[in-house]
Amino acid sequence: MKKKNPVCSLRNCSRPLRFKILKTFPAKFAKDSAKDAKYDLARCSRLRTDNYGRPTMNIGLLGGTFDPIHHGHLALARAAKERFDLGRIYFVPANVPPHKQSRAVTPYFHRYAMVVLATMGEKAFVPSVLEAPGVVATPTAGAKGRAAKDGVSGANYSIDTVRRLKESLKKSDRLFFLIGMDAFSEIAHWHQAEALFRECEFIVASRPGYSLADVANALPEKIRPPQSVSQPFAKQPATGDLVLSGATIHLLENVHQPVSATAIREAVVAKKPLRKFVDASVEEYIKKEGLYLG
Ligand code: ATP
Repeated sequence: MKKKNPVCSLRNCSRPLRFKILKTFPAKFAKDSAKDAKYDLARCSRLRTDNYGRPTMNIGLLGGTFDPIHHGHLALARAAKERFDLGRIYFVPANVPPHKQSRAVTPYFHRYAMVVLATMGEKAFVPSVLEAPGVVATPTAGAKGRAAKDGVSGANYSIDTVRRLKESLKKSDRLFFLIGMDAFSEIAHWHQAEALFRECEFIVASRPGYSLADVANALPEKIRPPQSVSQPFAKQPATGDLVLSGATIHLLENVHQPVSATAIREAVVAKKPLRKFVDASVEEYIKKEGLYLG
């Protein structure tokens, strides 16, 4: 039976997963729900029209350093596109990634060029200059003095990018923020993380070894479920959907590929072939431009 005022629910889009979750979650969840009437189970449907019957488009945003873009990024985007019917996915290389300050990143225009090459074959994949140098950020509330406080001057913050992108979308469009589990586990430290969850839904590429409790525990404090609620899911693989008051997270399992930009840069230095990590056009670009040689 539907609980009144549910602020948290687990739900699932695909039949096999729904069965899995219904088998494993309800008993405990229902117990917790009964306790504080906060948690509930629900199902989601793919939205094709809004409440007024207007057509909607599901849109994804995949931000990153893309230094370089690789098969892991593309696999994540492809899986999200299929599963959530995304009509368009914006690939947004950051000019100044706030979370990669420990090393010098390759100049923006090389990284952007590689994103263009890698996304060429897919109509729905759109290279985006939303975080290009010189693009004026829409300052977020409290942005004044932020650089000094957070220590990353001129950084591209996802909250600004998402808000700027939304200005160009239709009200009826539904925006999903695509992210890998590694990056998601740090999300509580992102600038205005709670606001980011309010602005869009998340699609997280989970990895084997991560549990649903890990996902919940990674959330910013104000929207993180209490330990008493997340603890029972410490052994439950990170699959399905997590719907909380202030955050909707869809988990994509079996997507993560054993590739990282770090490994690619190391492979270049070691003169190893890159073909298993990146598209041929990206490999050629890296060679032509002599990137990552040190
Ligand atoms: P680096 O090795 O330099 O830290 P990276 O390979 O993690 O880089 P980023 O550009 O930092 O690449 O990642 C952009 C986004 O893609 C992040 O959300 C990240 O979690 C995700 N991502 C990176 N690699 C993979 C992968 N192999 N599979 C799925 N998602 C990935």
